[in-house]
Amino acid sequence: MNDISLKWCTEQDIADPLKQYRNRFDLPEGIIYMDGNSLGPLPIGVADRVAHVVSEEWRSNLVKSWNSADWINLPTRVGAKIAPLIGAKPHEVVMADSTSVNLFKVAAAALKMRPGHCEILSEPGNFPTDLYMMQGLAAFLGNDCHLKTVDRADIAAAITQDTAVVLLTQVHYVSADMMDMKAITRAAHDKGALIIWDLSHSAGAVPVVLNESNADFAVGCGYKYLNGGPGAPAFIFVAERHLKSVQQPLTGWFGHSDPFGFVDDYLPSDGIKRMLVGTPGILAASALDSALDAFNGVDMALVRHKSVALTDLFIRLVESRLVGYGVELATPKDSARRGSHVSLTHENAFAVMQALIERGVIGDFRAPNFLRFGMTPLYLGFEDMYRAVDTLADILNTEQWHEERFSKKSAVT
Ligand SMILES: *Cc1c(COP(=O)(O)O)cnc(C)c1O
Repeated sequence: MNDISLKWCTEQDIADPLKQYRNRFDLPEGIIYMDGNSLGPLPIGVADRVAHVVSEEWRSNLVKSWNSADWINLPTRVGAKIAPLIGAKPHEVVMADSTSVNLFKVAAAALKMRPGHCEILSEPGNFPTDLYMMQGLAAFLGNDCHLKTVDRADIAAAITQDTAVVLLTQVHYVSADMMDMKAITRAAHDKGALIIWDLSHSAGAVPVVLNESNADFAVGCGYKYLNGGPGAPAFIFVAERHLKSVQQPLTGWFGHSDPFGFVDDYLPSDGIKRMLVGTPGILAASALDSALDAFNGVDMALVRHKSVALTDLFIRLVESRLVGYGVELATPKDSARRGSHVSLTHENAFAVMQALIERGVIGDFRAPNFLRFGMTPLYLGFEDMYRAVDTLADILNTEQWHEERFSKKSAVT
C-alpha cells in the first residue's frame, strides 16, 4: 500500500521514546483502544489504590481517615497534580464536581466580575453541556443575559465591548480543531472580556499554556485523557490574580474558609478552595489521584510530538486506503490546528463503528455521521494506526457493516 508499510510502523514503535509507558495501563489483550478521549483506560495502580481506600482507609480507619489519609485535602492535592499538565500553578487548580457543574460556577463567577455586561459568547456545535449550562445560567439570571454563538473561525472578531465572558473548548470534541489559546485570550482581554477555556479534550493530550496565555478560568474532565475512571471528578483553574476576589454562587461548606467552624455565615476560603461546594467522593477522587501517576516523569512535548505523528499517520493511511468508500476527513489537516483525535464522516458511521468495535478497534460514533478515533500517545503506537485503518478498510470493502446487528443503537454511543 503506497509508501507506508506495516514494517515501517513497527520500526517507528521500536524507536518510540514513549513506548515504555504502555505498561502503565491495564489494557485488555487484543484490542486497539482509540476511545481514551471519551473514557480513558485503567492505569496500573488504580485498582489497588481503590481497594486500599475501601479496606484500610474506610473499613479499618473509618472517619479518622479524613485526617490520617488526608482525604480532606484530596481536592487540592489532585488539583496540584493536574496543574503542570495545563500550564498552571499548583494552587490555581482544584478537583471538583463535574465539568458541567464547574462550567456553571466559573461562568457565574466571571459574569459577576463584569458588572453591566451579561453576554456569554461561545460557538454553535460546542459540546452540548457547555451550551446547555450557559442557556440555563442566562435564563436563571434573566434581564438581558444571553448566550450568543458564533462560528469558531469568527470568534475573535465577534468579541465586542458587550461581551462579558467568552467560553470556548480549546480542542473541539468532534473536529479536533485546536484554538490558539494565546491569540484568543488576548482578543477577549482587548475588549475587556474574561475567558473560560474548556480543556476536556486538551488536558493530558496536548500541552496547555493557561498562564502563558494569561487565561482567566478553565475547566476540564477527569475521565478522558486523565484516565480517572467513569464519571471521575473534574477540575477548575482560576488565575492567581482572581483568587482573592472571585465569587462563585454555589457557596457550600467545602468552599468556606473554615468548614469545621460550623458558623452560620458564609466566608469564602481565600484560595482555590472557594471553588469547592460539598464533600468530595473520596473513592472516585482516589482513583483519579492514582491515575494521574501515569503522567509521572512524562515529557508533554514528547507526547505532543507523538500525538501529531500518530494523527498524521492515521490521516495518511485513511487517504491512501479508504478512497472510494465515501469516507471524508472531518479534522484539520494542519497538525498545528489539530488536537489528539481524528474524525471521519461516513453515511453509515454508526454501523461502521459497531463493526470496528466488534473487531477490536474501539473508537466511537458521534451524531450524526462521525467516526471518532482518539490517539493517546502513552499507550497507542504506529502499528496500532496501521491495523486500525486496515480493519476499517476491510469492513468497508466487504461491506460487513451491513450486517443487521451493527445497526442496533444502545443508550450510550
Ligand atoms: C466531555 C465533555 C464535557 C463533560 O461534562 P460532564 O459534566 O463531565 O458530563 C464537558 N465539556 C466538554 C467540552 C467535553 O468534551
